[in-house]
Amino acid sequence: MAGRLSSMKPEYGKMTWEEVRDSDKDRVVILPVAATEDHGPHMALDTDTLLATRILDELANRIPDKVFVMPPIPYGFNEHHKDFPGVIWIQPETLISFVTDITESLAHHGFRRVVLFNSHGSNHPVLDLAARKTVIKNEIICVSVSYWNLMSHRINEIRKSATGGVAHACEFEASMYLYLDPENIHLERAFSQNLHDPESKNFNLDLAGGGSRAMHMNWWSAISPDGTMGEPTLADAEIGKQFFEAAVEETIGLIDEVASLPIRQRVDHH
Ligand SMILES: [Zn+2]
Repeated sequence: MAGRLSSMKPEYGKMTWEEVRDSDKDRVVILPVAATEDHGPHMALDTDTLLATRILDELANRIPDKVFVMPPIPYGFNEHHKDFPGVIWIQPETLISFVTDITESLAHHGFRRVVLFNSHGSNHPVLDLAARKTVIKNEIICVSVSYWNLMSHRINEIRKSATGGVAHACEFEASMYLYLDPENIHLERAFSQNLHDPESKNFNLDLAGGGSRAMHMNWWSAISPDGTMGEPTLADAEIGKQFFEAAVEETIGLIDEVASLPIRQRVDHH
């Protein structure tokens, strides 16, 4: 029944099995994948998980008929952070297997459009591989995205910091957390550490800096004394609101495009 389908809730976990059976399989299913890790002396371990889930909650409020948002995976690939107490790390092979088991389950139930929504930097290559594996094995659309990549132009319009100021527990993350959960951030403990080397031709740590030409992920404790990378002392809730709005809007733009991607059939030329 069309009325019933269109009024279906956007929260995947709130559906019954009969509702899943009857749901529109061309709705985009979004799986948030985050991390539990150090975010400087001023931010909580749940930073990446909180930001991802709040962005997707708001997205689900705005386009409830177009998406199913799954419960988040709150752990990621971050063993290089383990010198900081509290970090829970997952091996990349495990994470790929875990995520592709989820996408295979979704494909089994008939869903055809899946987005892996990443909020933690080092999950990026892992989720790229998981999406590629999903496409090969299940022949559905599976897209991976690190959300800051959708909005680097917006970040650069809003930010106060120079290149290097937006990286980790930084102006960007701290501002959004201040806007979304001000009781659990301690900005008075923050130190800015802009670790970007303007002389470097090949490395750029800034999330909105257009990416590096080459990649070297060192031990986090070797590059940051307290886990911070960037300029959280420039953070405030007002720009946090602007970053958050931009994240929601640009993610909706991605969902619209994924919803209209053609599902192409492979051609075996043997
Ligand atoms: Zn983070």
